[in-house]
Amino acid sequence: MEENIKTLNLKILENTAAALRANRFEAAVYESGSSAAAALLSLAGAGKKIGLGGSMTVKALGLEEALAAAGNTIVTHRPGMDAEVKRSTWLAAQASDLYLASPQAVTLDGKLIFIDGNGNRGAAVIYGPRKIVLLAGINKIAKDQEEGLWRSRNIAAIANNLRLKKDNPCVKTGRCSDCSSPGRICNAVTLLWKKPSASDILVMLINEDLGY
Ligand code: SF4
Repeated sequence: MEENIKTLNLKILENTAAALRANRFEAAVYESGSSAAAALLSLAGAGKKIGLGGSMTVKALGLEEALAAAGNTIVTHRPGMDAEVKRSTWLAAQASDLYLASPQAVTLDGKLIFIDGNGNRGAAVIYGPRKIVLLAGINKIAKDQEEGLWRSRNIAAIANNLRLKKDNPCVKTGRCSDCSSPGRICNAVTLLWKKPSASDILVMLINEDLGY
C-alpha cells in the first residue's frame, strides 16, 4: 500500500474505532494482519472452545490453524455435514468461549453489518459466546449504514456467490438484483447499532485489505 494512503487509512480506522467505542464496543486498530493475528492469539491463549463464523478474513490470517496449534478446540461447520450435525455445531459455536467472525461492513459511525444465508453467524454475534471478536480490514469500511448495506450486497455477497459457485443472477451481472432465487445467500441482515448489553465484543480494525 502506498505510504500516504496507508497513513490516511490508519486515521480512518482510528476515527472508526472511536465511533465504535462510543457505541460501547471495544475497538483496536492494527497496522497489519500479522499484528492483529498475534494479538488475537495472545488474547485466545490455549484450552478454549473457539467458534468460527465462516470468515474469509479469519482464513486469510491463518487463524484456524494457529488457534488449533495453540491447543484450542475449533467449532465450525464443514462442507458435507448433514443438517443435524450442522445444527448442533452452530449451537455449540454460539456457546463458545470465543467466537470469531468478520462483518461485511463497518460504518464510519460505528455500526456493524452482516448478511447471512442461514443466520447462525448473525445469532452468534448478537448473543451467546463469552467473547466475540470481529475482524475487519480497511476494505470493509463504509461511509454510513446505506453504503454498508450496498457494500454487503454488491461486493461481499457477490464475491461469496462466486466463491461458493452459486447460480444466482449477481454472478452473471455483477450487481445485486435482490433476487428470489432458491439459492439466494442473502436472507438475514444483522445490524449492530450499538453493542448488545449482555455481550462482550471486540472489533479489530486492520490496515490491510482482508476478506470480502
Ligand atoms: S442477487 Fe441474490 S444472491 Fe446475489 S447478492 Fe443479491 S440477493 Fe444476494
